[in-house]
Amino acid sequence: MPFSSKHPETIVLHAGHRRDSATNAVAVPIYQTTSYQFDDTAHAADLFALKKFGNIYTRIMNPTTDVLEQRLAALEGGVGALALSSGQAATAFSIQNIARTGDNIVSSTDLYGGTWNLFANTMKDMGIEVRFVDPDDPEAFARATDDKTRAYYAETLPNPKLKVFPIREVADIGRKLGVPLIMDNTSCPVLCRPLEHGAAIVVYSTTKYVGGHGTSIGGALIDGGNFDWEANAARFPGLNKPDPSYHGAIWTQAVKPLGPIAYIIKARTTLLRDLGSCMSPFNAFQFIQGMETLPLRMREHCRNAIAVADFLGKHSAVTKIYFPGVMTGEAKRRADAYLKGGYGALIGFEIKGGKEAGRKFIDSLQLFYHVANIGDARSLAIHPATTTHSQLSPEEQLATGVTDSYVRLSIGLEHIDDILGDLSQALEAAAPAKAAE
Ligand code: PLP
Repeated sequence: MPFSSKHPETIVLHAGHRRDSATNAVAVPIYQTTSYQFDDTAHAADLFALKKFGNIYTRIMNPTTDVLEQRLAALEGGVGALALSSGQAATAFSIQNIARTGDNIVSSTDLYGGTWNLFANTMKDMGIEVRFVDPDDPEAFARATDDKTRAYYAETLPNPKLKVFPIREVADIGRKLGVPLIMDNTSCPVLCRPLEHGAAIVVYSTTKYVGGHGTSIGGALIDGGNFDWEANAARFPGLNKPDPSYHGAIWTQAVKPLGPIAYIIKARTTLLRDLGSCMSPFNAFQFIQGMETLPLRMREHCRNAIAVADFLGKHSAVTKIYFPGVMTGEAKRRADAYLKGGYGALIGFEIKGGKEAGRKFIDSLQLFYHVANIGDARSLAIHPATTTHSQLSPEEQLATGVTDSYVRLSIGLEHIDDILGDLSQALEAAAPAKAAE
């Protein structure tokens, strides 16, 4: 950006790109290329030795993807970002970048079902233990920490419970013990900037609100540059000892002149190089398009969601509603402390009549899509117990907050009258007023 702005509305339109250096194009071009001609052998050698920054191969970097990365880093107030092929890849990389076989991380129980599976099964198979703790008790993170703990992990606004995570409280505990907090902020971009509250790394599934259009799967890591990996060298040998996979580079030293970017550079130059979960330039372009309207969309999502929460809260067929804006006590305090400009657009509710009524409700929707997604411009609904969380055991389902009668809504950008109209007719079909009394 030729000027600096702290406003998301400006950042999403201007950060990382003014005009294309080759053509003066204002829109970010799609550099649909695998490789880049080196000037000469010395240039090639310098790029590989990280003596110069430049394009080598699209698995590791790409000019279109670079703009998306710069925009995401600017939006979050971070020092660098890495775009990846999916949110799942971003979560996996966020941990694998600092944890090895024999290490552990401490994670909130309140997680997306896919993340739960990754942590409870695949990470376990990789020899990384994930210790799940209740986020209502921040001190539980401290109690679960030992010398082998490499990170804390949580979601800012985790569905299905939709209770905002105590970011500052847990980040502070981690900083005392030398453990970085990684926050998945997928559900509330713009509304929350976890790095400002002490988190060290932000994870996104860009598939959701960042894109908003529901056309592309993607993910990203953003490095806050605010965690002292060197001061905690014993915990992070991968960042502080010579890396045999990169001619003995010590990442915290190698990149020092460029800023506090050891974590994000290592993720790119080792994990992305070796595991190859890169974002395609076309998808990066799609996310850049989506991001241009992200702050605007989040405002409308939030506005519609408040109206839906109000409607559901008064409906006789609804027995319980999960929405940060209607919570009380500590949950509401956290929502107000960490979300600015709205409470997000995910709403959970329990319907009278349990599983059968939940199924009928979903089958009766006409405007809402029944899909395994959130954060689309369109309104979406799902019954987690039989879909997203179905691979979890009943105990695990309960720990993540899923009951048989729970329905999750992701409120879109349609006119609010149409959204309420569809909910109203589907509730009536599922739990008729007379039968419900
Ligand atoms: N994190 C959260 C909070 C999610 O909701 C999801 C997907 O639903 C993911 C991560 C995984 O993202 P992706 O589907 O892009 O792999």
